[in-house]
Amino acid sequence: MKFAEFYQRSIDTPEQFWRDEATLIDWNTPYTQVLDYSRPPFAKWFVGGQTNLCHNAVDRWCATQGEQAALIAISTETNTEKTYSFNELKTEVERCAAVMLALGVGRGDRVLIYMPMIAEAAFAMLACARIGAIHSVVFGGFAANSLASRIDDAKPVLIVSADAGSRNGKAIPYKHLLDEAIDLSAAKPAKVLLVDRGLAPMALVEGRDVDYATLRAAHLDASVAVTWLESNEPSYILYTSGTTGKPKGVQRDVGGYAVALASSMKYNFCGKAGETFFATSDIGWVVGHSYIVYGPLIAGMATIMYEGLPICPDAGIWWSIVEKYKVTRMFSAPTAIRVLRKQPPEFMRKYDLSSLRALYLAGEPLDETTSQWISDELGVPIIDNYWQTETGWPILSIAKGVEDKPTRLGSPGVAMYGYKVKLLNESTGEECGANEKGVVVIDGPLPPGCMQTVYGDDQRFVDTYWNTFSGQQVYSTFDWGVRDADGYYFILGRTDDVINVAGHRLGTREIEESISSHANVSEVAVVGVEDKLKGQVAIAFAIVKHPEQIATAEGRQALEREIMGVVDHQLGAVARPARVYFVPQLPKTRSGKLLRRSIQAICEGRNPGDLTAIEDPASLQQIKSALLV
Ligand code: ATP
Ligand code: MG
Repeated sequence: MKFAEFYQRSIDTPEQFWRDEATLIDWNTPYTQVLDYSRPPFAKWFVGGQTNLCHNAVDRWCATQGEQAALIAISTETNTEKTYSFNELKTEVERCAAVMLALGVGRGDRVLIYMPMIAEAAFAMLACARIGAIHSVVFGGFAANSLASRIDDAKPVLIVSADAGSRNGKAIPYKHLLDEAIDLSAAKPAKVLLVDRGLAPMALVEGRDVDYATLRAAHLDASVAVTWLESNEPSYILYTSGTTGKPKGVQRDVGGYAVALASSMKYNFCGKAGETFFATSDIGWVVGHSYIVYGPLIAGMATIMYEGLPICPDAGIWWSIVEKYKVTRMFSAPTAIRVLRKQPPEFMRKYDLSSLRALYLAGEPLDETTSQWISDELGVPIIDNYWQTETGWPILSIAKGVEDKPTRLGSPGVAMYGYKVKLLNESTGEECGANEKGVVVIDGPLPPGCMQTVYGDDQRFVDTYWNTFSGQQVYSTFDWGVRDADGYYFILGRTDDVINVAGHRLGTREIEESISSHANVSEVAVVGVEDKLKGQVAIAFAIVKHPEQIATAEGRQALEREIMGVVDHQLGAVARPARVYFVPQLPKTRSGKLLRRSIQAICEGRNPGDLTAIEDPASLQQIKSALLV
């Protein structure tokens, strides 16, 4: 079918459209109403229907393909590898669920999961889903204060954690961070369930801390029935990445999410039961929720959970996994691909990648250079997809499962079914025409799978996301973009990141894209910095591929001039950065997103803002040092 027709049906007759999609999952009780939008902007999907995420991800496949692989847990940190079939996964989830029930967890209770990328983390998420507890996964290794604020927000009755994560062969102890966070928080959990990997010593707090292995052993034969939940009961809380400020706690439902994932697995990711999916994200992020744990399993696929770096033991590790497990669909982020691009290409050429059909990338703008490079290396289509923690599944992409529509370099694609995407002029609120820049917004109701509200704060949901433009309330993505005459969107940066140079509005992304086409640039961040004369000027921070070139002051200046020349040539002098600084690394969130707001603050001599999500604070020091050179 033509995608345009498919899309139009989802917009013109949404209830019919989603009723058809809802047949992709099992319902214990049929819903009585597809959509209740009587209290906009709060949408309720599949009202009255009863279902369960764990049932759809695990139990229902046990009947037809119980012996097939479901969860493949690989760690190059501890050199372990284990495959769980759907039957084995069900058994482990039931054991974990029995342990949670024994610890007093009930339907609607919150369970905070602060775990490394190990199988037990997935068991815990699925166990919560099974018994109707609401999980809140917090990225493992987050500092104590970030964790404490999430504990206070969710008020969990139970925290599930482990002795340690591991990175580059070094154990990263979690337990002392957790203890500190619980000390700092006002909402103390009654119990803490700990997986002891034997990586770091743990002191157990009596009466509160319990050992998972011991309790699991007491529930080996546990059988825990699925708790059927009304479609709109909450399934989980998940925080946004914190790139633009304090993270927001996204609350998701059960039925709408299950349907959205089942349909996106079919049309976007073309997942077939029995095949293997490999998303390289972390369970602490939305990609980990939607496309490591729930999505692939709901589609009956085996899913890979990988603990380790993309370049350890060497840069071929991902591709050896693709070969060994015959991965058909892979999902990663541009930032990880840029890391690989800095490595010698031999590593990825050693493996048989013939099973691989497509690589999906999301999370940040995908520059053309990176996209072209990885596409040439792998020989498969690269499918950029644009979405947010808030939406749970792609807003923009190319749905190859509907029509083999071509992708377009630099564009994450067209509006996905269910999303009424628009571009609005920031000042007039009018809809933009082709090639006119504006804010990417979505008309309500948001389709199934998107956030229900901000956890515990309906007003914040309305105030934060729903802005009124020309009298119409719309959901704002806070991203800035442009659409060509064929409906392909190009994301130009965050609305916060728009630079205004002498009255010209430029997206940081446009300038970054241009700079990264220089052969000696492997990564770049562009920020707008206050300027007395022009209002703002663009300043660039680049990582070079061949540092020899910037070993001397002359070399640095020459490269700076070359880069400015590239921008002049491609975008015009107005976009030319006032300065190009060279740095060994760029400040990023732990999910790999550029912290432009902090770079900008440093350039303007301000406080860098909320840094709880930063990966390596040393990177900010490097920005400061670069400014002094
Ligand atoms: P916070 O909302 O806390 O500031 P965040 O927006 O980075 O953090 P996420 O939900 O993880 O949190 O990221 C969503 C954002 O990532 C999008 O709004 C967009 O800015 C960016 N993004 C995601 N995918 C793409 C893509 N394919 N192309 C361009 N930008 C993307
Ligand atoms: Mg955001």
